[in-house]
Amino acid sequence: MNDIVYLNGEFMPLENAHIPVLDRGFIFGDGVYEVIPVYSRRPFRLQEHLVRFRRSHDAIRLQYPLSDMDWTRLVHDLVGRNPGDDQSIYLQVTRGVAKRDHAFPASVKPTVFGMSSPLSTPSRQAIENGVPAVSAVDYRWQKCDVKSTSLLANCLLRQFAADAGAAEVVMFRDGYLTEGSSSNVFAVRKGTLYAPPKNNLVLPGITYDVVLELAQANKLPHEVTPVLETDVRGADEIWVTSSTKEVLAVTTLDGKPVGAGKPGPVFRRMHQLYQDFKRTIMRQAA
Ligand code: PLP
Repeated sequence: MNDIVYLNGEFMPLENAHIPVLDRGFIFGDGVYEVIPVYSRRPFRLQEHLVRFRRSHDAIRLQYPLSDMDWTRLVHDLVGRNPGDDQSIYLQVTRGVAKRDHAFPASVKPTVFGMSSPLSTPSRQAIENGVPAVSAVDYRWQKCDVKSTSLLANCLLRQFAADAGAAEVVMFRDGYLTEGSSSNVFAVRKGTLYAPPKNNLVLPGITYDVVLELAQANKLPHEVTPVLETDVRGADEIWVTSSTKEVLAVTTLDGKPVGAGKPGPVFRRMHQLYQDFKRTIMRQAA
């Protein structure tokens, strides 16, 4: 983690940032967050992240405490005050500090927090060999489209993967693919890329959108449709995507090889397209 954080209007060293124990973020996980990747000191898809951030606030009836212009300034300030060209900016808003009661307090100021960490994208080895994943029943709630700080289920699921020596969990609900504990999941069968539709059961990933835009722009066969668990288990390729993982191939699922057991040709194409796209966008922003 880097040094300078933002808390309720002020920048300060991390060790000076404190919140009261009655903060509803601490007591109830009553808050929302965003993670924005920064390449060469330029935030990637910031507007799209802010649109999703606002939607998360609306979904939990939390006041959106800053304007998009203020968030943009805050993100750039955090990037400027912290070391490293590539960073991961974390923003969090909670419903604030109030006497413990499940119902919302009548009037309370949201707690606004921001920090930066070094951006750690997948290693060359992970890109070239892919990563193991395990499957699990998706037992999370019905509002997985909200980027909520209530992440206990995601933590349990990720730990389940970690205990199995896997990098991610691939989740299924009622026989259909949903997503990973902190990533979206795609499958490739016979050269066509399949993505589950955006609905209340998955987080609308910013990277998911980029991948589908790149598939569209480059005429890669793709379909957004409910994806059967059996089709994922028989897929030629499985990918996970997120702001920090970018696009990563899953090469074993539950210990069994996915397709040929190495990153497939459609993955390699998409990975290249994604890297090229990032570079182009960053050059344009310069
Ligand atoms: N799904 C979940 C549950 C996530 O936590 C994340 C990111 O952290 C994603 C999907 C991917 O979203 P994005 O591409 O915006 O990082």
